[in-house]
Amino acid sequence: MNRRAFLKAIPLGLAAAAGARYSASGENPAGVMRYWLDSVLRSAPGPPAFDPISDEGAAPRASRFQKSIDFDETYPDDFLVAEADSQTLVSVAARLERTQKLVGHGNFNLLSFDKMLSFARNFPDIGEFTCDELDFLEELFFADATRYGFFGDKVVHDLTTEIPRRDVVKIAGSGHYLLKGEPLDKFRRIRKDVGDSIALTSGVRSLVKQYQLFLSKSVKTKGNLSQASRSLAPPGYSFHARGDFDLGKVGFGLDNFTESFCETDEYRKLIDLGYVAIRYTQTNPFGVRHEPWHIKIA
Ligand SMILES: [Zn+2]
Repeated sequence: MNRRAFLKAIPLGLAAAAGARYSASGENPAGVMRYWLDSVLRSAPGPPAFDPISDEGAAPRASRFQKSIDFDETYPDDFLVAEADSQTLVSVAARLERTQKLVGHGNFNLLSFDKMLSFARNFPDIGEFTCDELDFLEELFFADATRYGFFGDKVVHDLTTEIPRRDVVKIAGSGHYLLKGEPLDKFRRIRKDVGDSIALTSGVRSLVKQYQLFLSKSVKTKGNLSQASRSLAPPGYSFHARGDFDLGKVGFGLDNFTESFCETDEYRKLIDLGYVAIRYTQTNPFGVRHEPWHIKIA
C-alpha cells in the first residue's frame, strides 16, 4: 500500500471483516483495500444491496457520545494507522521517548519541533529522524482529526511554533510550566482558594509533547487513532498549547486522570469556586472522554 494511504486509514470493522489483523510486520493490505472498495461500491446509490456492516443482525453504530463514555473500547468504524505505517508509528514514538529522556520531562513540555530535530541530529542516543518518520509526523499534523472521530478545534497551525521561555513560569514542585496571564493567574487563585492539596499535573505543552503523548497512546492502542483520540487530543488540537492545564489531588497519583478525581474534596471545592470551567465535560460534543481534571482557559 502506498505511504499516503495513511490519510485514508482503514476502518477497523472493514479490516477485521476482511480477515486482516493489525500487525507490526504488515500483512494482507491488498485484501483490505479490495474489501474496502467493494463495500464502497456496494453502498453507492442504486437498488438496495446486502450490506454486511449495517444489515439486520449487526450491532448498531455507537454514537459519538457513547464512544466518549466507553472511550477505551474499540468500534467497527474506528480508524487505524495503515499497515505500511505501523512500524513507523512504533519507531517514531520510541524516538520521541528517547528525546524526552535526554532533555528531561520539564524541558520537553516546551520543546519545539525544530529543537527536537536538532537534538536528534546531535545526540546518537536519540538518532536522527528517518524520512518515513518525518513524513508520518507531517501527515499526522495536517490530517483532519474528524476522521478519527475527534471534533475539537485545531489550535496550532504551524508545525514550527515555539513557546517562548519569557512567556512561561515554572511551577515549583510540578515539573510543569504555565503561560503567564490568565493560566498563571487562575492557577494561583485556585491554589489560594482550595489549598496546597491541589497540584498542577500538566501545564502548557508544545506540539512535540502532544506528539509524544498521542503517539505513545497510539502504540498502546495498536495504531487505533480513534481510540487514542478519545483520551488525548491529536497533535495541534490540544488546548494545553493555549494555556489549559490539568489539576490533581496531591498523593492521588494516576487516579487524578480518572473519574475518581470527581470524588475528591479537591474537585468539589474546585467546582464550587464558580470561576473554573472544565474543557471536556461529561456531555462534551468533541468525542473526548470526560476529563474533570482539565481546566479550560478562555
Ligand atoms: Zn489536560
